[in-house]
Amino acid sequence: MARVYNFSAGPAMLPEPVLRRARDEMLEWHASGMCVAEMSHRGQDFMSIAAQAEADLRELLGIPSNYQVLFLQGGASTQFTAVPMNLLRGAASADYLNTGSWSKKAIAEARRYAEVRVAATTETERFTRAPAQTELSLDPAAAYVHYTPNETIEGVEFSYVPETGDRPLVADMSSTILSRPIEVSRFGLIYAGAQKNIGPAGLTIIIVREDLLGDAMAVTPTMLDYQVQAKNDSMYNTPPTYAWYLAGLVFEWLKGLGGLAGMAEINARKAQRLYHAIDRSSFYHNPVALDSRSWMNVPFTLADAALDETFLKEAKAARLTTLKGHRSVGGMRASLYNAMPEEGVEALVDFMSEFERRYG
Ligand SMILES: *Cc1c(COP(=O)(O)O)cnc(C)c1O
Repeated sequence: MARVYNFSAGPAMLPEPVLRRARDEMLEWHASGMCVAEMSHRGQDFMSIAAQAEADLRELLGIPSNYQVLFLQGGASTQFTAVPMNLLRGAASADYLNTGSWSKKAIAEARRYAEVRVAATTETERFTRAPAQTELSLDPAAAYVHYTPNETIEGVEFSYVPETGDRPLVADMSSTILSRPIEVSRFGLIYAGAQKNIGPAGLTIIIVREDLLGDAMAVTPTMLDYQVQAKNDSMYNTPPTYAWYLAGLVFEWLKGLGGLAGMAEINARKAQRLYHAIDRSSFYHNPVALDSRSWMNVPFTLADAALDETFLKEAKAARLTTLKGHRSVGGMRASLYNAMPEEGVEALVDFMSEFERRYG
């Protein structure tokens, strides 16, 4: 076996102890006589797995009891639809911050159901920074304020949680959830596709304040109605059982590392190590403003784009994979989610320095 350091933006690496545990439990989970993927979602065994995963997630994030946690399918992109359908609650408009490729997609989808006011945008600066609180022009009549705390493609992360008064704050946390502690009570709704920092693709987690439920648009598909899903413990239909189980193993792993405070220290070190390597060289470049640099996704370019292919080929030979930047940004992108070990970042930095020595 020869596992690589996989810098993919998603689906991304999973912690090796989690994969080993899943392997050990593959043919038979505890004394159930079967694999988790074969279990009835309404049976006692799976119900206990599901409940434990939710309890561990609540503990990790400190989720207050007046929030529901949903384990759904459809990815974060389905939430681009579900959010306006559930949260407009009779209002005509919602405020969106336009800070990168994912917020643009969320805005385009919300426009099908609501009048979207763009309360701040950094598009003319090619999304190289997060706007400051003072730049947000929020509408008192907005049903909610939506933003993307970490723009996965541009590598731009908010260093603060926007203050929105009594308008519920909605956050697409797909690529930053569980990377550090957050104060859940600052948010009306948090959603995240699992395949970056939670588990395998196919699972989407929604954390929603209870008072926001129960007023979905009449045409809302049953499956997208948070109230229905909450009332049915995310089991209105068959939930993504195996992904839910693997996510539970990831939560357990995180608890073992000291929870999110411990994880945050490791993540800060990993990001600093790579940004430092980029900044001290004139061969590599990251375009993002210092106070907006993502801990999770680090895009960088080479001084000569003609070397990109060689860089990727040699990196792969050195067991450092999936470093190609998103096609809309070009260059490279190293994603450093929780499951990327510090040794992986160390290996990347060493490779980059050696590559620069030879080609720079
Ligand atoms: C990956 C990602 C998405 C899309 O997630 P899917 O689960 O593929 O729909 C949306 N928003 C952000 C911030 C992402 O990183």
